[in-house]
Amino acid sequence: MKVGDRAIMSHPGKRDGEIGVIKEIDVPIKSHPHDNCRCGIRLEIGNELWLIHRNWVKPLDKGWKGCEFIEVENTDSLGNKIRSIFVPRPSSFFGGWARHQWLKSYFKQECSIASPEFWKVLIERHGKPKMLIEENGEFREEESEE
Ligand SMILES: [Zn+2]
Repeated sequence: MKVGDRAIMSHPGKRDGEIGVIKEIDVPIKSHPHDNCRCGIRLEIGNELWLIHRNWVKPLDKGWKGCEFIEVENTDSLGNKIRSIFVPRPSSFFGGWARHQWLKSYFKQECSIASPEFWKVLIERHGKPKMLIEENGEFREEESEE
């Protein structure tokens, strides 16, 4: 784990499952009895800064992948249903070819990358994006929180 990495909280009752960005590592935790404590990491979740034992946080790249998407159904001139899947521009931690293949393996079709401007338009028209998550080899779709 290093500063800038994304990590997921895995602490029951404390923002469990939420994703944050690591702001600082090797931070002393005051309540720890041992000298030279370096057990903590500072994690930014939304606008909050959490100091938490590193054991309660797992890096996103280990057994966890996630991507927002917006699904749009249209009908073409012949009356055929057409499903389009839009995803935002990739973030640095999971993007490019790997994400493309990953999305295709789930949706069984090509997905379109929306520019930040178009992504906003899609949200206005079709509502909040969903989140596709793969954890330990299992896929699930979740409603977005914000
Ligand atoms: Zn400690």
